[in-house]
Amino acid sequence: MKASLIELEKKVEAGERISTDDARLLYLEAPDDMLKRMANVVRDRFHEPGCATYLLMRIVNYTNVCVAKCDYCSFYRLPNAPDGYVKSKEWIFEKIDELINVGGDLFGFNGGFNPKLKLDFYTDLFSSIREKYGDKIEFYALTIVELLYIARLSKLSLEDTLAELKKAGVRWITGGGAEILADSFRLRHSPLKYTVEEYYQTQRAIIEAGINTTATMVIGFDESLDERLEHLESLRNFQDDVDGKIFSFLCWTYKPYNNELGGKEIGPEEYLRHLALSRIYLDNIKHIRASVLTQNRNALKALAYGADDFDIPWEDEVTEMAGAVIEKDVEKVLEAARQEGFRTTYRHVARDLEISKR
Ligand code: SF4
Repeated sequence: MKASLIELEKKVEAGERISTDDARLLYLEAPDDMLKRMANVVRDRFHEPGCATYLLMRIVNYTNVCVAKCDYCSFYRLPNAPDGYVKSKEWIFEKIDELINVGGDLFGFNGGFNPKLKLDFYTDLFSSIREKYGDKIEFYALTIVELLYIARLSKLSLEDTLAELKKAGVRWITGGGAEILADSFRLRHSPLKYTVEEYYQTQRAIIEAGINTTATMVIGFDESLDERLEHLESLRNFQDDVDGKIFSFLCWTYKPYNNELGGKEIGPEEYLRHLALSRIYLDNIKHIRASVLTQNRNALKALAYGADDFDIPWEDEVTEMAGAVIEKDVEKVLEAARQEGFRTTYRHVARDLEISKR
């Protein structure tokens, strides 16, 4: 074992922060067992060993019309495409009722940059949901990039847009649409989807508006290790700046089917190594979440690599169109977690809010 790696392990055990160069060295040279051990040292500072939380959620894809044209996207349709859609409120309510009936209580709304849907569409939808369901459910209203698009389309400031959304009952806007937060990557694949600076400016406005937010990352396109590290570095710096207001970090993997970019899926080992590295590096984010949606049972292995939480997704057209196959047998997923040696408890997102208010 290299002396520099042994030094790094001691550093993490002593509670010191690792640098981005340290992270590069760890990713390239540390054996899996060592990464796992170090990730668990950081995990244990936040969570009880052997315990994990999960939630049962459904992504509601309310429109697939989008003008951003990201080359890795299998989901979008341009305006006027014959199979473009905007779903009705009734359709959305049915989706909500179905998930409630199987025991879930979290919904993530995810659509595209639809030029016909201005802010009033969203405030009407979200306030109707609050009116009908109250606090029985919680929802991730939009992603950061959708919010920025809607504000600009509606010719409103971010502050005014957020104030209206809050009035309509919005409590969460997730860090979706991040993929890889490196401008070199965004220029190659999603030049219309905002710069890294715009992304963080929007997230800061969300936090300042008193709305909860999360961080995400998607790996496995053609990004370099440096681009991945750039993402983690900017996120850690931002989280320091906002005094730890980002609730969680979720990482999933790119699915290369039915889109312009194509390519090959990365292997499960690469995902686990990246997740362990994220746990070690992001020492200021409490929850590291694993993706059952794109990793299936491998996501449960991630619990031993530093993750502490996962969701069981009921539906997500975006990743399903790109090749994801969703495991809907909740008991089977939980059994897989038990086989990895973890006790699981359901996490109610609405309750997280109560906790964060204390
Ligand atoms: S990833 Fe999102 S923003 Fe990009 S094209 Fe697809 S729906 Fe639009």
